[in-house]
Amino acid sequence: MGTGLYFDHNATAPILPAARDAMIMALDAANPFSPHAAGREAAMMIDRARRSVAGLADVDPRTVIFTSGATEANAWALGHRDGPVLTSAIEHPSALAWASETIPVDDNGVIDLDWLSRRLSAGWPEGGVVSVMAANNETGVLQPVGAVAALVRAVGGVFHCDATQIPGRLPMAIDADLLTLSAHKFGGPKGVGALIVKTGVAPLLRGGPQERGLRAGTHNVPGIVGMGAAALACGEMAPQRRDALVALCRSLGGEVLGEGAPRLPNTLSVLFNAPGDLIVMALDLEGVSASTGSACSSGSAQPSHVLAAMGKSGTPVRLSFGPQTDIEPLKPILARVISNLEQSQSCEW
Ligand code: PMP
Repeated sequence: MGTGLYFDHNATAPILPAARDAMIMALDAANPFSPHAAGREAAMMIDRARRSVAGLADVDPRTVIFTSGATEANAWALGHRDGPVLTSAIEHPSALAWASETIPVDDNGVIDLDWLSRRLSAGWPEGGVVSVMAANNETGVLQPVGAVAALVRAVGGVFHCDATQIPGRLPMAIDADLLTLSAHKFGGPKGVGALIVKTGVAPLLRGGPQERGLRAGTHNVPGIVGMGAAALACGEMAPQRRDALVALCRSLGGEVLGEGAPRLPNTLSVLFNAPGDLIVMALDLEGVSASTGSACSSGSAQPSHVLAAMGKSGTPVRLSFGPQTDIEPLKPILARVISNLEQSQSCEW
């Protein structure tokens, strides 16, 4: 996975050198629960990683429970509940799959807080959970999760936040009862993540004593160590490069989704006159990796549920980049691809 023209960081970010090095060291680790020096050394590696992830999320290390990624963390937070599961209409499919009801969004893709307030005042049973993501993976639009937390707390409910797209992009200061993270979105390995558990879940996997008995099973030591190293190294981004690409896309006739709302500094999703899937294919031929939205829904002919919830139609192009990405080489390629495709489309008409 090259880094130069790789514009698909929201699908997965390239592994950071610090994470790769730490993982290689950890490949040989013993079982962290073994009663000998090698076991204690492995347990210390897990401890260090837990503290690093806690530092990233600004939480007590004891609340960090490692999982196999964000899909598992979302399923744990939302699955098999005794009460209603109210999620935003634009959640990742791994959260939306559990929703019994959804919170609508406006045409910028921001949830309707008045709707949520009315819904919660109408009566909210114990055992229910409200889930709103911190940033949407397709559009980058940020959600007012502080206000959501206050509304949910006021009725004594449990608030879950999928913060998968925040680390490596923005500071994390999210006060949720349950918080989802995934290492591979911020320079760690794939297949490892965490649910930050302050309150509100039953054990996910029973068996051994790992993860305070909440998620049994021998730890994925290299994965967890890689996640910890990435948590220390991932940093944050500023919006200048995104804004430069927004300006270019607008000059090419594109409509930037969620432009009226605060967004991630590394993401833009744009509707052009030419279909996004053709643009993504043409970019691929030019050596640029981009996508139409989430990797999970691309390849399916289904329109994006995120766009549908925003009242939009068409297939956008999503460009998402990282701290080291140089956007300059993309600019002439994007301009050429869009103008070629729009010309060939108008010929067909
Ligand atoms: N939630 C969000 C917001 C995501 O962007 C993703 C990854 N596309 C997931 C959950 C699923 O993450 P994982 O690959 O770790 O299961």
